[in-house]
Amino acid sequence: MKYASYVGLEIHIHLLAKSKAFCSCAARFGDEPNTNVCPVCLGHPGVLPALNEEALFMGYRVAQALGCELSRRTIFERKNYFYPDMPKNYQISQFAAPLGVSGGFEFEVKGETRRLAIRECHLEEDAGKLIHAGSVTLIDYNRAGFPLLEIVTEPDLKDGEEAEAYLRSFRRLVRHLGVCDGNMEEGSLRCDANVSVNEEGRGLGVKVELKNMNSSRFVRMGLDYEIRRQTARLAEGKSIQQETRLWNENRDVTETMRKKESASDYRFFPEPDLPPFEPGEAFLERVAGLAIELPLGRKRRFVGVLGLAEEQADQLVEEKSVADYFESALALGAEARTAATWITGELRAQLLRSGQDIAASPLGPRRFAALLGALAEGRIQGTIAKQVLKAVLDEDKDPEAIIAERGLEQITDRGALGAMVDEVLAREAATAARVRSGDKKALAFLVGEAMKASSGRAAAGTLKEIVMERLS
Ligand code: ADP
Ligand code: ZN
Ligand code: MG
Repeated sequence: MKYASYVGLEIHIHLLAKSKAFCSCAARFGDEPNTNVCPVCLGHPGVLPALNEEALFMGYRVAQALGCELSRRTIFERKNYFYPDMPKNYQISQFAAPLGVSGGFEFEVKGETRRLAIRECHLEEDAGKLIHAGSVTLIDYNRAGFPLLEIVTEPDLKDGEEAEAYLRSFRRLVRHLGVCDGNMEEGSLRCDANVSVNEEGRGLGVKVELKNMNSSRFVRMGLDYEIRRQTARLAEGKSIQQETRLWNENRDVTETMRKKESASDYRFFPEPDLPPFEPGEAFLERVAGLAIELPLGRKRRFVGVLGLAEEQADQLVEEKSVADYFESALALGAEARTAATWITGELRAQLLRSGQDIAASPLGPRRFAALLGALAEGRIQGTIAKQVLKAVLDEDKDPEAIIAERGLEQITDRGALGAMVDEVLAREAATAARVRSGDKKALAFLVGEAMKASSGRAAAGTLKEIVMERLS
């Protein structure tokens, strides 16, 4: 018997709005517990929620980037359930008319492009955080009411690898949009992963939901474990229970959490205190005006138009600030492949070491382009360029100034180079003799010594020519 597996993800992202979804408390991570709270987000009786338009706007931007139909009239419902982290006993969410529906998202997996259907995007609010401390449980309501956008896919994914690839690409997208920091450890991006297995050709199987996955690796491992578990059960003639399971990261297995409730258990009904939201033309135009080139499209352009290697292009588009920096440098005259190599290589390494951010570093695109210019014109050598780069980061000066101050320009003058070579040959007479009798390695050694004598500034080709002339 052949089996097929089906995976659909529900991703929740914390929108980077300044305040909570339905009150004016700060939506900030890491504050003293229960300091960003008010009667609205604590669910006191008689209070009125107010819609945070900034959060809604970010939600529409995501929906737009995912090619969704944007709702002209989006409404809010109450999703009723009891849990101590949710003081109102209901969550304000969207059910009948989410802000965006029927989109799609392209991402790469196994070197191929996959298109995933997006069912909907809806705005809702987060719950508080339970902190289990020994025999007591503490509650921090700072997070209660945080604006959350939930993005629901169709069950079009096949396995853990595809789900992980989608999740990573999606994370990259929302970070490019600047609407979510994508920090999975802090819970700014969380994922419920749904999975079923069935005999091939018989459609979806019975769904199991893996709840609250906070790492893309666990999503992959959890799904693949479930696919193996469900396949084995079916092969033994057993049935699958619809349920919610949790990934146990210590044992690398999924475990039953609860039997899955269905939508009817939540008694959705319209939120009587929030009017429908009808975005006007101006709102939608602002959303459209902030549309960005998607990271995957940008990567393809870097490969197709600029001739970059796939891997390098991928590295550049991982962060929007890096891709923007790269393109700014090109606009200032830097050569694409050289710039890409330096950004993903030496510059990245040095920024990591100094703990600086590319967008705020003293080596702005202008200075970077100038540095590469000096290199391209042969005024400095590669190894010197690395020193200059470091000096710019350390001292916040123009590369030109550093080159001039420290006398780092390449030495091309044959007279000056000849004098250095002669000095080395006099010192290394024995090695010179070996070269005369045909030892190639010894030649490289002498050229290296002469380069050292020039503090790395000698024009390498000319230097080698002179050494060979002297020894022939
Ligand atoms: P529910 O009503 O139980 O929340 P939904 O139909 O709303 O289920 O789907 C929730 C998520 O589960 C979606 O991402 C969807 O793609 C996925 N999903 C639904 N049914 C299945 C299934 N049988 N197998 C795998 N994934 C599924
Ligand atoms: Zn509040
Ligand atoms: Mg659902």
